[in-house]
Amino acid sequence: MNDYQAPADLLKGKVILITGAGDGIGAQAARTYAKHGATCILLGRTVSKLEAVYDEIVNAGSVGNAEPAPEPAIVPLDIKGATPSHYQQMTQTIIDQFGKLDGVLHNASVLGHLSSFKDIEQQEWLDVMQTNLNGTVFLTQALIPALEKADNASVIFTTSSVGRKGRAFWGTYAVSKFATEGVMQTLADEYQNKSLRFNCINPGGTRTNMRAQAFPAENPDTLKTPADIMPMYLYLMGKDSIDVNGQSLDCQPKR
Ligand code: NDP
Repeated sequence: MNDYQAPADLLKGKVILITGAGDGIGAQAARTYAKHGATCILLGRTVSKLEAVYDEIVNAGSVGNAEPAPEPAIVPLDIKGATPSHYQQMTQTIIDQFGKLDGVLHNASVLGHLSSFKDIEQQEWLDVMQTNLNGTVFLTQALIPALEKADNASVIFTTSSVGRKGRAFWGTYAVSKFATEGVMQTLADEYQNKSLRFNCINPGGTRTNMRAQAFPAENPDTLKTPADIMPMYLYLMGKDSIDVNGQSLDCQPKR
């Protein structure tokens, strides 16, 4: 589905929450979903970045430039410090304001420090798990009532190649992504034959700050940009993937 061509109005009338929407792949996904008609809820920890994405969305057209883009909402939240009650309050606000939630892109993650397994520090392990795994779990739990109010909602988790096969020195981040795949599979199995679907996306090496942190010597020009990998993000969020549940899909062939 990396050559998927989305209709301009694919997400018209849909309400979609994107975590880590201020930068990198999350920011591009928010711009892309809005361009295809969605009202985007931009969740992230750096308000200035969320505001910049908000401005880009309202200044760009939607539905193939035929309409103004639906005004996005900003949710400033640091997932590292958030509790289930923050997520529950946010869900209630979403239900009050929009009446439903059609999709979630769990995108926010941190890499942490790459190190040998024996040198992983306990606090670092806990911090990475808090953002990459626990936040994803408790946010998903809280959002389910809003997702159940939509027809055929789609929940997308973000995985990585190291979430499928372990790699030396990537211990903490890799385990957080293995666990993310487990969360997705569990939910997909629980909700099979229901109107909610759960899948993972593996972006593959993509030109962002996180990739530069992981591979500082790499020439970023050799990488796909976040815009290049958007067909899969559109496919999994829109109606053409309505029967896809429990899959972990790659945006790029293995490098
Ligand atoms: P970036 O680091 O460029 O962006 C991550 C976003 O998540 C940022 O906006 C960041 O906020 C936000 N974020 C991080 N921690 C928190 C937090 N505690 N609370 C709220 N928001 C937070 O990463 P990418 O765009 O590269 O990565 C996006 C996803 O894709 C991640 O899940 C990553 O693991 C995955 N991925 C990326 C690959 C790549 O090559 N780029 C390859 C494989 C997987 P802020 O801007 O404030 O830092």
